Amino acid sequence: MRTIAVMNQKGGVGKTTSSVNLAAALAREGRRVCLMDLDPQGHASFHVGVEAGPDMPTVYDVLIQQVSLDETRQVVGENLSLIPANIDLAATEVELATVSGREFFLRKSMQHWKEQNRFDYVVMDCPPSLGILTINALTAASEVFIPLQPHFFALQGLSKLFETTALVTRRLNRDLRVTGILMCLYESGTRLAADITEDLRQFLSTSDRDAPWASAQIFKTRIRRNIKLAEAPSFGQSIIDYAPTCPGAIDYIAMAQEILAMEAQIAASSKPPAASAA
Ligand code: ADP
Ligand code: MG
Repeated sequence: MRTIAVMNQKGGVGKTTSSVNLAAALAREGRRVCLMDLDPQGHASFHVGVEAGPDMPTVYDVLIQQVSLDETRQVVGENLSLIPANIDLAATEVELATVSGREFFLRKSMQHWKEQNRFDYVVMDCPPSLGILTINALTAASEVFIPLQPHFFALQGLSKLFETTALVTRRLNRDLRVTGILMCLYESGTRLAADITEDLRQFLSTSDRDAPWASAQIFKTRIRRNIKLAEAPSFGQSIIDYAPTCPGAIDYIAMAQEILAMEAQIAASSKPPAASAA
């Protein structure tokens, strides 16, 4: 089970769009996927057609009342489940402020899924902050994907984000790695986008090899700016359902295929070396 936190403390960079559409594209490729909404705005839930009213158990209940993930899980498509969120989740910051072990609640609730290999992918849409919800995601995840919007300030704030992952790996989750950087809202043909990608490549290649981001790959697939991606949420559909042949769908499908190729690489590198000929 690959557990991926989609994280960036900036808003509007494509976290929710990428979480939802990657989840849907991976499900389309036949993987068993669970999308987890960790943002009190509930945009990811809304995007797949779920508006969590007061009677629907949400991730808030998982964190505060130890309700199980299975009790909150909604099936939203073939191979695709959702753990919904709504505005209730905004209270966790305060409600958990003095509760010990609060960084581990999500990890604990996901433990049986890990043991049973319940899903192939759990994709967590983080809120635009580095508070307790994001910390819970980073403690429960093994991977971080960072969506970036390539504009002049894109790399600003990235060091803070990397520091946070380093802190989490030291204190809470030794296994956490930044594995993917996604260029979203990409305007091909602009110098700026290419320059920022190059700066980032430089930064990664000169980083300490033990840093949790040292082997992050910048996805070759870039998500182009495409109006259909902005329209799809109001229809409660992923781009795969809303407009399966538009550039936005093509890009997220290509990115999902890149992620599956990573999977094949990981599998190959974890195989024992072939016995040498005697
Ligand atoms: P975040 O979750 O990081 O705040 P969102 O995924 O909600 O960011 O994206 C911010 C806004 O930009 C949303 O209105 C979304 O529909 C829109 N958007 C995201 N990616 C694209 C894209 N590639 N093309 C066009 N609009 C996009
Ligand atoms: Mg969002």
